[in-house]
Amino acid sequence: MSAQPTLNSGDRTTKTEIRFHNTLTGMTEPFVPQAPGEVRSYTCGPTVYDFAHIGNFRTFVFQDILRRYLKSKGYRMIQVMNLTDVDDRIIQKAAAAGVGIREYTDKYIQAFLDDRRALNLEPPEHMVRATEHIDDMVRLIQRLTEKGFTYTSDGSTYFRIAKFPGYGKLSKIDVAGMQTGARVDMDRYDKDNARDFALWKAPKPGEHFWETPIGPGRPGWHIECAAMALKYLGETLDIHSGGVDLTFPHHENEIAESEAATGKPFARYWLHAEHLLVDHEKMSKSMGNFATLRELFSHGHKPSSIRFLLASVPYRRQLNFAPESLQGAASSVERLRNFVARLRAEKFPEGSSSARMAERAAKAKDEFDAGLADDLNTAQALAAIFDLVREANTSMDRGEFRQGDAAPVLAAMDAFDEIFAVLRDDDAEKLKALGIATGVPSLGDAEVEVLVAERQAARKRRDFAASDRIRDQLAERGVILEDSRDGGVRWKRK
Ligand code: AMP
Ligand code: ZN
Repeated sequence: MSAQPTLNSGDRTTKTEIRFHNTLTGMTEPFVPQAPGEVRSYTCGPTVYDFAHIGNFRTFVFQDILRRYLKSKGYRMIQVMNLTDVDDRIIQKAAAAGVGIREYTDKYIQAFLDDRRALNLEPPEHMVRATEHIDDMVRLIQRLTEKGFTYTSDGSTYFRIAKFPGYGKLSKIDVAGMQTGARVDMDRYDKDNARDFALWKAPKPGEHFWETPIGPGRPGWHIECAAMALKYLGETLDIHSGGVDLTFPHHENEIAESEAATGKPFARYWLHAEHLLVDHEKMSKSMGNFATLRELFSHGHKPSSIRFLLASVPYRRQLNFAPESLQGAASSVERLRNFVARLRAEKFPEGSSSARMAERAAKAKDEFDAGLADDLNTAQALAAIFDLVREANTSMDRGEFRQGDAAPVLAAMDAFDEIFAVLRDDDAEKLKALGIATGVPSLGDAEVEVLVAERQAARKRRDFAASDRIRDQLAERGVILEDSRDGGVRWKRK
């Protein structure tokens, strides 16, 4: 990486030098993309075996803030996000549900896209499914084989990590003394278990597989991202990002696969978001301590409060989640919206902008920008905006604020919302689009059970009007019923 910071090339960038913490070097460095004015970025997307939880969305919101910030500085973004629609868990879950993996994952991809819209996450330029890039993965594995980086065992192809001297450079694991030739088939494993990993997995009975020139089977997780990143972004990307849990083995293995094939550095800046925690444990499906967006929405939380909370804690700080923090976030958003409404609606005494207020607004805008330029320090950036809001409100209360002061202050608020995207009062609209009723308090589990039992009784006495009424009533409160063939019923929240 160049040690000499040059000015960033997107053209609104001359004032602030953008700096990011790069996991690869362990340092916070000036950000200078390869091509002037353009950022090539790869974002590890979700594994679509279930609804994403808000821990996942912590990372996706960070990636959106990163994207919006770079765009606001004039860069053209070329961002790729993958959808991992084949992996061990998907295969197992689809088989258990008795459907193909396509049918199984379609539902969660749709839910992910809907959730993204609710959180105002901008669509990346390319959102790509792993199963539509099997040929690219096979070709990359063939390239690695030609260069002697692979071997096969029982129909699976493995990457020989001893052949790649840079192995461990991202996660800083020590590979010295490691047992060579030991293999791992699982996609996710920990650092103590660094092994030769599967690029291509031989099919197991009853599992989904592809017939290919390297034999029947399915791809390992890491080769998916490496192949899609190289295809859409070229051999060297500017930024690769994900949550910290992806550093090892996922990103370490992506580096090995792509650099062994191309001989070029894979990604110049690696950005990793710290986890969202619950009671000091990582929120995860396997721990069972997770909340989906839909659950939070059906408990009355707004999309804007969730986005604000996730965005307000700088990405390299852990975020300990508690539903009460969402109330705090909701009142912050409320305060900002009220302020902008006041700026737009109130009739202030005539007069051009006072030098003081115009300067104050310009300073807030600069401080907001400086906070984000400093490795996306969203907390510092927000503090600058809240200071401005407080001072401008005081000035209005004292009758000192002039009509002409509104424009510069609004400009600062616009700069804020270009990144935070919470000022539009469209929460109800968003929830409606997700089919979540608003203004109706959600039901507790016991209340749902009572209504479900009443509906079962109505069905039994063939009073279908009553049974439909109860079903609608539950749907309005975000509860969906699934009738089974044997006359039983299961319920879940949307
Ligand atoms: P996955 O669907 O497991 O591949 O994860 C999708 C994204 O969410 C990845 O970038 C993960 O690193 C990230 N992620 C998973 N759990 C958390 C968490 N508790 N907090 C923050 N990010 C997470
Ligand atoms: Zn990935």
